Amino acid sequence: MTDHINLFESVNRQFDEAADILGLAPDIREVLKTPYREVSVALPIQMEDGTVKVFHGYRVQHNGVRGPQKGGIRFHPEVELDEVRALASLMTWKTAVVNIPFGGAKGGINCDPSTMTKRELETLTRRYVAKISMVLGPTRDIPAPDVNTNAQTMAWVMDEFGRKNGYQPACVTGKPIELGGSQGREAATGKGVAIITREACGVMGLPLKGARVVLQGFGNVGSYTAKFLDEMGAKIVAVADHAGGVKNSGGLDVKALMAHVKANKGSVAGFTGGDALDKDTIFAQDCDILIPAALGGVLNKETAESVKAKLIVEGANAPTTPIADKVFASKCITVIPEILANAGGVTVSYFEWVQNLQQFFWEEAEVFEKEEKIMMQAFHDVHDKVKKHGCTFRSGAFVLALERVRKANELRGW
Ligand code: NAD
Repeated sequence: MTDHINLFESVNRQFDEAADILGLAPDIREVLKTPYREVSVALPIQMEDGTVKVFHGYRVQHNGVRGPQKGGIRFHPEVELDEVRALASLMTWKTAVVNIPFGGAKGGINCDPSTMTKRELETLTRRYVAKISMVLGPTRDIPAPDVNTNAQTMAWVMDEFGRKNGYQPACVTGKPIELGGSQGREAATGKGVAIITREACGVMGLPLKGARVVLQGFGNVGSYTAKFLDEMGAKIVAVADHAGGVKNSGGLDVKALMAHVKANKGSVAGFTGGDALDKDTIFAQDCDILIPAALGGVLNKETAESVKAKLIVEGANAPTTPIADKVFASKCITVIPEILANAGGVTVSYFEWVQNLQQFFWEEAEVFEKEEKIMMQAFHDVHDKVKKHGCTFRSGAFVLALERVRKANELRGW
């Protein structure tokens, strides 16, 4: 088996392993795998220097039988239709695992935001929304932030959608608090990853107190995951990001590291509370728990053999290739898949949508309490499937999601 399959094929292999367990018929598999709608748009933008550049944007709506389709918008030079398709499919299974009333979607624009001005990014975002707004809306498809998009981007999405459709804050989540964003949304994904890590340690008999944790990525997901795990008594012993790494076998001071990252162009490099670490050695570091929280495909045939952790919790989307999954299974390393582990973000996006529809807002403590309840239920629902079928957590999560989506589809009619 080669490691060079595309992401959509990789997600569909995971789907098929669960479909085999359920004995799903080929025609049903095809219905559930195939995206419902794919929109591809050209986005000509006048740049600050007067030239016109044509960008390419995508929105894939994978499945909406359980509710409006939900998924982020990514700005990245490597965005292409197949990647967006795979990420949209993962959203269908993720929203089903946590049992929130959404389907799956994803969007992206092929661009390099690091080379663009704020005005260019605003124009690009507005052009994209104007071109796809007919398939968006609070009951159809609700975008959110993803890689290189943030609360400001979502404010532009809401404003542009509102030009034609009136004031509808529930049309997008991850908005600034001032525009109807939810308390707790920023920390929600990391909080969910930490809760799932704690529950996984519980069923594995691995004490979380004093457990050594290694993280790749210290952005939104990585930093909050580290913060909550540190509060739960784990020791963050090494972190790496795009620009460097740092390690401290006695445990890094997470609050000081977060402050350092804020003050130093978003990187952990140069942090004085530990020793510098070659970022490419992060997956080979000695630890109990490994958390990829940056990019897709990083746990692959080159890196998997060197992993020493007992538990891997996927903070990032699609960090593990099928070959790496096989390596981990052969080494009895437990892998908690992203469709369970990082679902705290979409769960609190769901709370934001609910609050926007009601125009009634909750305090942070209520948001976190409700998130914790949903994440714990999802973990134990997946664990029940793992015990019942004697399968991996990835297959257990897919089995649970497939059963829920298939049932909804059956009830509504194929
Ligand atoms: P972010 O932009 O806030 O942080 C990304 C982190 O990855 C940064 O620390 C960056 O330095 C690091 N990174 C980038 N390139 C790297 C490289 N080549 N090597 C090592 N590190 C590198 O992004 P985020 O929101 O934290 O998202 C991280 C992952 O989590 C993505 O896969 C995203 O799809 C997924 N995710 C995010 C959310 C969310 O709510 N933010 C929810 C679910 C899933």
